[in-house]
Amino acid sequence: MLRTMSAPTKRNDRAGEEDRWHRPARRGEQVNWPAANMPGPVWCTDPKHGKSGALVCTVRHGQGKRWLARWVDHDGQERRTAFDRRADAKRHIDGITTALITGTYADPHLRCDLRDRG
Ligand SMILES: [Zn+2]
Repeated sequence: MLRTMSAPTKRNDRAGEEDRWHRPARRGEQVNWPAANMPGPVWCTDPKHGKSGALVCTVRHGQGKRWLARWVDHDGQERRTAFDRRADAKRHIDGITTALITGTYADPHLRCDLRDRG
């Protein structure tokens, strides 16, 4: 992989925000509308979540916080924190990424017990 020296603020490859309530449809996957009452995956029809028929609901749909901010610590450990809003998750990652780069990052040990256990 090519890396350029001119992009010091580039995000860690494994950092990002993840939608825990939805996933894209897999290639060739049969996805049903909730009204069809069929077993298997269903489309999200909540206009507040996104375009109808574009997102497949996960088992967590509507439960807990939607967005999971993920990043990798300076010790190589993956960390995660959940947020209600994507913008908040993004800001969190941006803040940590910047702190990691500038060396002002404080290890959030107090948050370890909040980690997602799947
Ligand atoms: Zn949804």
